[in-house]
Amino acid sequence: MVHFVGAGPGAPDLITLRGAKLLEEADVVIYAGSLVNPELLKCCKPTCEVHNSAFLTLEQVLVLIERAEREGKTTVRLHTGDTAVYSTIREQMDALEQRGISYDIVPGVSSFCAAAASAHAEYTLPGVSQSVILTRMAARTPVPEREAIAAMASHGASMAVFLSAGMLPALQGELLKGAYTADTPACIVYKASWPEEKVLPCTVGSLAAVGRENAVEKTALILVGDFLNSSFDRSCLYDPSFTTGFREKEAAP
Ligand code: SAH
Repeated sequence: MVHFVGAGPGAPDLITLRGAKLLEEADVVIYAGSLVNPELLKCCKPTCEVHNSAFLTLEQVLVLIERAEREGKTTVRLHTGDTAVYSTIREQMDALEQRGISYDIVPGVSSFCAAAASAHAEYTLPGVSQSVILTRMAARTPVPEREAIAAMASHGASMAVFLSAGMLPALQGELLKGAYTADTPACIVYKASWPEEKVLPCTVGSLAAVGRENAVEKTALILVGDFLNSSFDRSCLYDPSFTTGFREKEAAP
């Protein structure tokens, strides 16, 4: 049995209880060493076989999993953040299905959630934006033309840009082609929840300069949108003049 586990954004106590238990019980752990905090591996059994997939191909990962299966062992495949975004689990799941190997998935705290927490921000504010766009700049992995940053930026929604910290001048240019202006607030969150975390508030216009001044080149998320501003409408859910499914509105004084 293989368990795909979301490791969370970095802090070892931001893995889920279920993920931590599976890690403690695993016979084999294959972790994405470029981003997963190695502190998490301290809870593994002394007999646990640990592999860093940063040095492996998909084929080599599969060889390790197939061997573990033959020996009746349990494997944890540990990926950073949550397993559903930029995690490469789909190709692994397909390969396991082809081989008749059963698996399940334990979600994790994605870095876009951790980055918002570090920035003390909420993506969905009434009167500002009710949508979050998770996206990235094209690199060796292409991005479909219709999802180019400039196209996504045309919505002016809240945005979290992954995998693009090394391309801030180009990202800034693309964002400005959309509905954002040079004054639209942005924030670079480097290594959210790690001891070396940096939260760097800026604007779309100063994004590249702030990244350069702080030597941010990778492991950062770029948050963009007016949700980082101070003005918004208060929620209906907690407004005394609204009735909800759980309480009656308060009588006018
Ligand atoms: N599945 C992961 C994303 C993996 S892609 C998740 O849910 O978070 C790797 C990218 O995620 C990095 O280039 C960076 O943009 C972002 N990232 C991962 N961990 C991060 C962290 N702790 N702080 C800021 N960005 C992070």
